Amino acid sequence: MTSSTQDPWLLTPGPLTTSMATKEAMLHDWGSRDATFIATNQRVRDNLLKIAEAEGSHVCVPVQGSGTFAVEATIATLLPRGGKALVLINGAYGKRMVKIIEYLGRACATLETPEDTPPSLEDLDDTLSNDPHITHVLTVHCETTSGILNPIKEIADIVERHQRHLIIDAMSAFGAIALSAKEVRFDALMASSNKCLEGVPGMGFSIIRKSILEKCKGNSHSLSLDLYDQWVVLEETKQWRFTPPIHVIVAFDKAMEQFFAQGGVEGRYKRYSNNRKVLVDGLRKMGFEMLLPDHLQAPIIVTVKMPADPSFDFQAFYDRLKDRGYIIYPGKLTVAPSFRIGCIGALDENHMNGALDVIRETVAEMGIKTGAPVAA
Ligand SMILES: *Cc1c(COP(=O)(O)O)cnc(C)c1O
Repeated sequence: MTSSTQDPWLLTPGPLTTSMATKEAMLHDWGSRDATFIATNQRVRDNLLKIAEAEGSHVCVPVQGSGTFAVEATIATLLPRGGKALVLINGAYGKRMVKIIEYLGRACATLETPEDTPPSLEDLDDTLSNDPHITHVLTVHCETTSGILNPIKEIADIVERHQRHLIIDAMSAFGAIALSAKEVRFDALMASSNKCLEGVPGMGFSIIRKSILEKCKGNSHSLSLDLYDQWVVLEETKQWRFTPPIHVIVAFDKAMEQFFAQGGVEGRYKRYSNNRKVLVDGLRKMGFEMLLPDHLQAPIIVTVKMPADPSFDFQAFYDRLKDRGYIIYPGKLTVAPSFRIGCIGALDENHMNGALDVIRETVAEMGIKTGAPVAA
């Protein structure tokens, strides 16, 4: 592509920059009942299980829509009407799961910590000891609100010790941060096509323990979100119940082919970690401060505290970066004014250095002396 037709680089948590091969895979039409597509669909489902090291124990059930559709479908299918959820909240995605459970009319308790603080394992342990009605614990692997990495293995171990069910929103971490069903015991894990696996948006999926899903008939309030029914029909006919997002699935298959060729989870973790390091180091040199200490910061999206310099105006800053070919992301925090810059997508350190160059130019142009935030 020439520079005039180059799309802006998306430094966002998804949808994100995809490779040309992934985009080009969509330039065809397929019949949804044709053998070619059926084979592609099966490969995608098998590969997703492989990434989670969940072959044999779990099944992969896809669903049309964005990631939230998969979250809602999974909760609706797995949480029975007499069940009670405990949701660990430290950001918007934990809160969204609570909202879903309220829509479903199921019982729900919460354990909330600030957006820059992982859940308290002690409180989780105590809550499960004290409330025998809780059947399911719901948590977020990487809370994209801040980019914080939650201690998924420790959470899973506590839930297992109390013999409750665990549902993980792994949307923004799946494929980049290792999560093996052999090491972390979970009943369901949700993610989507358009985050770390670098596909295009339009499909969510849930990796569900087979022995659990087998018992979920009739739980869902919704036909189109019933993952039990979706699974049974997929197994019987190899076809989706309703029109599948074919182009999304074919692009996802192509994106996963590249994922494996680039070293799978380990390769992606390395590239994204390097992106984060280059980005954070460069921002710190300009005086910017990150919300999270390095040990809590996942290599997915970085939250930058809003500079105190009165010349800094986020919208103007955003627009100037966009004019130079880089799209960043607004903040979603309640604890502090901030903005976010993603490290995921088909991007490497050259793109991060490119972004830092245009940030440096923009900061100078706007007369911002330092990126330092208001002192705490
Ligand atoms: C992106 C994301 C979702 C799903 O968001 P959609 O906009 O519905 O795709 C859910 N949870 C987390 C943690 C996410 O990062």
